[in-house]
Amino acid sequence: MSLPGIRLESVRRKSGGRNHLTPRVPRSGPVTTLCGQTLAADTYSAVETDADCANCVRRSRDASRISSAFFEQEEGSELLRLSLEQARFRKPAPRPALDSAKPAKSVNRPIVEPPPATPDRIGDLVTSGFKAAGNGVWRSPAGVIVRMAGKGRERFDELVFEGAIVATRLEDGMRLRAGDVEVTASGGEVQVRIRR
Ligand SMILES: [Zn+2]
Repeated sequence: MSLPGIRLESVRRKSGGRNHLTPRVPRSGPVTTLCGQTLAADTYSAVETDADCANCVRRSRDASRISSAFFEQEEGSELLRLSLEQARFRKPAPRPALDSAKPAKSVNRPIVEPPPATPDRIGDLVTSGFKAAGNGVWRSPAGVIVRMAGKGRERFDELVFEGAIVATRLEDGMRLRAGDVEVTASGGEVQVRIRR
């Protein structure tokens, strides 16, 4: 196909004729070809051979045709991917002098609500560098799992790590280093953080 990243499928009437192109051959129900024909359910089958319908082949080079074909088949995620491909496809030849002066064209993209901000510290845990895995479980970049317990999941409960662990005695406590995580228990206080 001439459009990068877009794979079209071939379909043919059971009664014979040309191989047509379509975004997806559905498992059941009618299929619409790129050349605009609707083949009724059970009257067509997917074929592995290349399309030989001239209209389908020509339209397979037309991004907007394919886009609407995808849309008809409600290929939502494919459509999104296609629109991104199209944006690249339609980009005019670069004109450096102009491009640098022009602000980047805004792209239609779904609005994603940012996740709620994580506090710097939750009880014993210094959250910087950790990824929340939910339910008081946190994961460090090196794969150390830290589980917090208690009210508000503020109390260090457990650390799991398959790798080198070094425990060091402190004057009034202990420090544990597991991967990229450091747990310091000292003077009745516990602090869990990513090592710097
Ligand atoms: Zn066709």
